[in-house]
Amino acid sequence: MIQCIRPPVQPDFLPRSDSPVQQARRRVEDAIQAGQKPIFRNLWKKCKHVFARNQHYKCGYCESIVLATDFGDIDHFAPKGEVHELNAPGREADHMSKVVGRSCAIVSDRGYWWLAYDWNNYIFSCKLCNTAWKLSLFPVRESPRQIPPDPAVTETRLLLNPFEDAPVLHFEFSEFGQIRGKTDKGRATVAVCGLDRLSLFRKRREKAQLVFGLLKEMLVLANRDDEPMLIKKIYEMGKQENEHAGMVRSIIANELGLDWDLIEEYLRISGYPNLGTHP
Ligand SMILES: [Zn+2]
Repeated sequence: MIQCIRPPVQPDFLPRSDSPVQQARRRVEDAIQAGQKPIFRNLWKKCKHVFARNQHYKCGYCESIVLATDFGDIDHFAPKGEVHELNAPGREADHMSKVVGRSCAIVSDRGYWWLAYDWNNYIFSCKLCNTAWKLSLFPVRESPRQIPPDPAVTETRLLLNPFEDAPVLHFEFSEFGQIRGKTDKGRATVAVCGLDRLSLFRKRREKAQLVFGLLKEMLVLANRDDEPMLIKKIYEMGKQENEHAGMVRSIIANELGLDWDLIEEYLRISGYPNLGTHP
């Protein structure tokens, strides 16, 4: 996971417009007031391309490039229809994408309905993160939590949001690409989104090995003049648009204690112009 900047709100999603989105929002509010289960019209699909482009076509959770193999989804960060809790995280089935050994329980048949058409509740994601792993899970620190969720009650979410958090600080990675949460939020996000699933670990492995290899090279450098060249190689792997760039940045933060901004600054000082913008 890597920090992203949320795209500007599209006009249809502005609260004062009379767009189909706002009409759908009002129908949900009417259903809630009448004590009925709301029906959500999928109008968020209209903004999928906006979020996809903004996130460099990468899943907001696992950071895989989505569009080559998957239509991709708009995920509701806070689930709109129901709330589930995770009792056992489970794992990826052998040689399959499905999840086995996972135990979830429904804790509310009403979700964060008022966020169904809220621009700030959307994240472009791959289908597996959305519909096989994250589902309607939304862990919060409060125990017991508010059931059903109430717009008047503030909660402390435990799931990392790439638009609102600095995810690189919440994870650490092994030399082979295995992920581990360093904080409560990091651990909850790994468990809920299945970021430690075998297929992702395999996908991250080569890049993780390259980064750790470059860091080892730096330690034994005979000529310090070569250091900027090695840092530049790491920087290229951690560019925002690249798969698992967040992992590269986490490794740098954990191993060197360096913020990505400082890497850019170091390279500028070393004579590498036009490095792009952060994040
Ligand atoms: Zn994903």
